[in-house]
Amino acid sequence: MSDAPAADNKPSFRSDVTVELVKHSAADTDVLWAARVSTAGEQSLDELQKDPERSKGLINYLMRDRHGSPFEHNSMTFFVSAPIFVFREFMRHRVGWSYNEESGRYRQLQPVFYVPDTSRRLVQEGRPGKYRFVEGTQEQHELVGRTMENSYAQAYEAYEEMLEAGVAREVARAVLPVGLYSSMYATCNARSLMHFLGLRTQHEQAAVPSFPQREIEMVAEKMEAEWAKLMPLTYAAFNANGRVAP
Ligand SMILES: Cc1cc2nc3c(=O)[nH]c(=O)nc-3n(C[C@H](O)[C@H](O)[C@H](O)COP(=O)(O)OP(=O)(O)OC[C@H]3O[C@@H](n4cnc5c(N)ncnc54)[C@H](O)[C@@H]3O)c2cc1C
Repeated sequence: MSDAPAADNKPSFRSDVTVELVKHSAADTDVLWAARVSTAGEQSLDELQKDPERSKGLINYLMRDRHGSPFEHNSMTFFVSAPIFVFREFMRHRVGWSYNEESGRYRQLQPVFYVPDTSRRLVQEGRPGKYRFVEGTQEQHELVGRTMENSYAQAYEAYEEMLEAGVAREVARAVLPVGLYSSMYATCNARSLMHFLGLRTQHEQAAVPSFPQREIEMVAEKMEAEWAKLMPLTYAAFNANGRVAP
């Protein structure tokens, strides 16, 4: 990658996040296999297909009694593209997650910035820890859009000016805001994903409500949709047991 800034690096603006399941080895049978090893030994894999109702019951029992380790024998790798402020929250999830994020030291960061669309509730009410968000007015949306776009463009211009003057990328990036998009691979297992989903989504079946920032919730919802397809029995048991990670 060249040191010089790319030509025509005009800022662009997004309101969405990208989540792509790039690699996986994850199925309900992984949970059953791990749980049944204690009674069926190496034959446990054959046991799986014999009695689907029993398999469903076993997964539900493991979830309900928080017998968590059988949910760790699987893997999902997601490619995520989201604003840096989402990644700051995401990387607080330390256990059962591996991350690799694009570098602002080795390449010029691209001018792609987050501007919320009109579906994003803008006004915060209530007390800390239990906020509720209500619709912004049209004026507020216009103000947010205009102010963010101007501010982002100014910051990126300053970044490019420093790069053109020969300043190292790792120094010049200090002027870039947390609304800049970054990308990462994030790898987890079903247990660590459930813990993440319990904290970073709002859901009517949650026994312990959480109040996540909407933008990380957008990432979480897309991960959840991918996972639900891979492990439907585990997913159903997670919901049925209050969305608390086992
Ligand atoms: C709505 C919301 C608001 C938040 N607000 C803030 C905030 O204002 N400021 C802020 O700094 N953070 C904030 N956080 C981040 C939060 O404190 C956690 O860091 C984050 O949710 C990751 O959770 P975790 O530690 O359970 O996950 P992980 O790091 O994945 O850990 C998983 C589990 O492993 C165990 N564990 C991990 N590490 C340790 C350890 N060192 N000691 C003992 N047990 C451990 C715990 O049981 C933990 O639940 C917020 C999170 C949410 C969901």
